[in-house]
Amino acid sequence: MSRIRILSSRLANQIAAGEVVERPASVVKEVLENSLDAGATRVDIEVEAGGGKLIRVRDDGAGMEAGDLPLALARHATSKIASLEDLERVASLGFRGEALASIGSVSRLTLCSNASQHSSRGSSAACEGRDMAVVVKPAPHPRGTTVEVRDLFFNTPARRKFLRTEKTEFSHLEEVVKRLALSRFDVAFSLRHNGRAVHNLKAATSQAERGRRVAAVCGPAFMEQALFIEADTPALHLSGWVGLPAFSRSQADLQYFFVNGRVIRDKLIAHAVKQAYRDVLYHGRHPAFVLFLQLDPAQVDVNVHPAKHEVRFRDGRSVHNFIYSSVHRALADVRPADQLSPDQVALADGQAVDTRTGEIRRQGGLGWGSPASAAVSGRAGGGYVAHGTPAAGRAMEQVASYARLHGEPAGGLSEEADAADVPPLGYALAQLKGIYVLAENARGLVLVDMHAAHERITYERLKCARDSEGIRSQPLLVPQSVAVSQREVQVAQDHAALFRRLGLAVEAAGEESLVIREIPVSLRDCDLEQLLRDVLADLIEYGSTERIEAHLDEILSTMACHGSVRANRRLTLPEMNALLRDMEATERSGQCNHGRPTWTQLPLEDLDKLFLRGR
Ligand code: ADP
Ligand code: MG
Repeated sequence: MSRIRILSSRLANQIAAGEVVERPASVVKEVLENSLDAGATRVDIEVEAGGGKLIRVRDDGAGMEAGDLPLALARHATSKIASLEDLERVASLGFRGEALASIGSVSRLTLCSNASQHSSRGSSAACEGRDMAVVVKPAPHPRGTTVEVRDLFFNTPARRKFLRTEKTEFSHLEEVVKRLALSRFDVAFSLRHNGRAVHNLKAATSQAERGRRVAAVCGPAFMEQALFIEADTPALHLSGWVGLPAFSRSQADLQYFFVNGRVIRDKLIAHAVKQAYRDVLYHGRHPAFVLFLQLDPAQVDVNVHPAKHEVRFRDGRSVHNFIYSSVHRALADVRPADQLSPDQVALADGQAVDTRTGEIRRQGGLGWGSPASAAVSGRAGGGYVAHGTPAAGRAMEQVASYARLHGEPAGGLSEEADAADVPPLGYALAQLKGIYVLAENARGLVLVDMHAAHERITYERLKCARDSEGIRSQPLLVPQSVAVSQREVQVAQDHAALFRRLGLAVEAAGEESLVIREIPVSLRDCDLEQLLRDVLADLIEYGSTERIEAHLDEILSTMACHGSVRANRRLTLPEMNALLRDMEATERSGQCNHGRPTWTQLPLEDLDKLFLRGR
């Protein structure tokens, strides 16, 4: 070992840059955050060769005085905090005072800035010298700042080696711009790559404009299939868009979460949202969302990560619960009536905005005012309908009353049916191949996967019953014995209490035999032997009592699958209509228990297109 010596400031900065400046995208993040902190209303970004060759960011923010330029480039120099108290409730995106110094140590950096509204005399500063010596010269510039970063990592070849192709680097960089563009609707952003315009986002002030920006950033398909949600407690405010389960993704690549305007990736939050989607997402799929959480800055520590990707909440548990319950509620309340036409975007309180005209109107049907948010924010619950166990009897009554009014439906809508009276999923026409129900509603043809839909209804009923009066069971006229393994007999005995809670009375009838005496009422037509085997398989898989408790919903889902109409069962029209009415009244009825869709709409226009009608 040689003697100890103090590092040169450039080397110290280069070491710090290791944490903050990983690739062109990280430069763009730091520089854009500075523009936003400076109060910019418009930010223009120009990039060459994926950002490796050039990144130029121009803003119309507060700018800097000539004398401040060398400080901006020095390490541990910031205008944003002055004390530890400031740090504890920091509201700006930056505060560490090392981004520009780090970037300047691994690139050719030029700053050009002007803090005056009244003159265009600005100044420029460049740092290329060995020890970060900065030369300041007068330079024309309107109020605001331009930061130019050329030849990133030109002097740190080891770093440069880690850069990927131009295309990959640009996609990372674009992702950063997208995130920041979502975090600040009020700021205009433009992005050009190799002279080509990639994004041009105008400042968005109205809800419709914000919707358009989300569509521009996340793709129009997301906006077409997203719900706007809003929920409050006295300490927390959540708003944003959550994708309908049908819009799930194969990767977790459309998930944006902002805490007080800062983009973060947080395990706690990811978990809360994932939980909220658990019941409705097809296995292995990821939800899409753009969510904004607002809370007192003192309640969250942002100084946990050098690039500030992570945060720490003082009261993580209540943040988790709040996010989980708000998103969960919103998804549970989605009803066939809420499935919007492609040009509409759902807003809170059952309103919809037309993404083409920006017009906002109230939506009919069972609006989805979230009771949680209504209760805490004092907003009226909109068209919220209390959801209990949707009694099949009620649905049958509706069918009967329809039949009385219109004569027993021959299927579908009668000629004179008033569109306003037609329920969202319409009236059944026929059954196809014993699998699909065909129905006619106001918009055209509805196709329902009978088994998937019924499975969800049974599942929601079982959950609902378990959480309220308990699952009702009925004794079998002839108890059924099932041959099983010794281990399974043991498992059944160990979990006798659980079986009772599930509405099943099961007893050992020998070393390798169980007998089923009672089953849940809603499962009376199922294959009992298979039902028992599958529940036992679940219990064995989950193992410990704790894990079983945590997976009770999955066990109910297994049971529901058995209690549901099987393909190839012929249904009568009234039975099909009862199923449609039950779907309208059931939470999460748009997806089966495994997250597959249960129904789809084929609008008349699409059918007309199919037949080249009206061309
Ligand atoms: P931090 O953002 O943590 O303060 P930076 O190294 O990113 O540290 O920037 C240092 C300082 O330079 C900032 O505190 C700010 O005063 C100034 N600055 C940087 N970029 C801009 C900008 N675009 N407009 C105005 N001031 C800026
Ligand atoms: Mg900064």
